[in-house]
Amino acid sequence: MKKRVLFIDRDGTIIVEPPVTKQIDSLDKLEFIPYAISSLASIAQRKEFELVIVSNQDGLGTASFPEADFWPAQNAMLTTLRNEGVVFSDILIDRSFPEENQPTRKPGTGMLTRYMTEEYDLERSFVIGDRETDVQLAKNLGCKAILIAPDANPGAVLTTTSWKEIEAFVYAQTRYAEYARTTKETSIECKLGLYGTGTCTIATGLGFFDHMLNLLGAHAGFNLTISATGDLYVDEHHLIEDVGIVLGETISRALKDRSSIGRFGFVLPMDEALAQVAIDISGRSDFVWNATFHREMIGDVPTEMFKHFFKSLSESLRCALHISVEGENEHHKAEAIFKCVGRALRSAVARVRDQGIPSTKGVL
Ligand SMILES: [Mg+2]
Repeated sequence: MKKRVLFIDRDGTIIVEPPVTKQIDSLDKLEFIPYAISSLASIAQRKEFELVIVSNQDGLGTASFPEADFWPAQNAMLTTLRNEGVVFSDILIDRSFPEENQPTRKPGTGMLTRYMTEEYDLERSFVIGDRETDVQLAKNLGCKAILIAPDANPGAVLTTTSWKEIEAFVYAQTRYAEYARTTKETSIECKLGLYGTGTCTIATGLGFFDHMLNLLGAHAGFNLTISATGDLYVDEHHLIEDVGIVLGETISRALKDRSSIGRFGFVLPMDEALAQVAIDISGRSDFVWNATFHREMIGDVPTEMFKHFFKSLSESLRCALHISVEGENEHHKAEAIFKCVGRALRSAVARVRDQGIPSTKGVL
């Protein structure tokens, strides 16, 4: 797995930048941006990103900004953050003046060449900063920009003045996986952010199946993209089965070592139809199905394929999955099941606390 990085600006991003001098040259000028400490602490605790400070400090070490004026506030900032579990793997400070046009000065990438290798997933890394040069740095690095500013910036994936919002956004990027699987029968691509907003883009060629997967993803709170093509001229079987396999495998990959998750989940909702779904992301697969459909097809999907889809998913996700439904309206019953599975997955994959693997065996 390639490493991901948050390249974080200092002044105006972690600590307040004095409006006129722009120089934090004494301890009494040290003030943190609201919620920077707690948000960075949450991000650091999840261990999904390397944290790197990238800062321009104009003329540091010259008469205009003596070292002795710089370090007290810098050290106090780092100590405060370290005491909250925020440790930077690198602190990169360019000391040049703008007119020198140094390649090390942001938005130049001269200090960051060691990150521009195969070892790092820059495309899914971020620069967090408060200036256009930070947005430009992200572009030059091939990563994405998060901008702390009042007005939207088209070069940034997020513009906000709130560190809490940054934390939520970064959180949505964690536990992400992509998986593609091609056989002689089907070709399926899945992209999944487990902690998302329920934004789904589904295209399987089967309208009713798309609708069901949308419900599942939305209720799970996933950001989910599935595109599937297959031998629908034979029938729907291979495609639906293989989407189940791919979705389960992608969830499994996104969960990584399965640490700090709720592991269990169940719910029981909806109109006259009552669906019950219980799940245990246990590392072992088992499947219990207690649902009878009286129609052969709902839309373009054979009802017998619901069972097969979830069985495939439980096998590739390696979870115990128990599903039952009662009701009158066949469409409602199918919807209830897919929504319920989404809700059950949501609580089962939810990060509960930094508790390691939630098993007395120590492995899931
Ligand atoms: Mg700044």
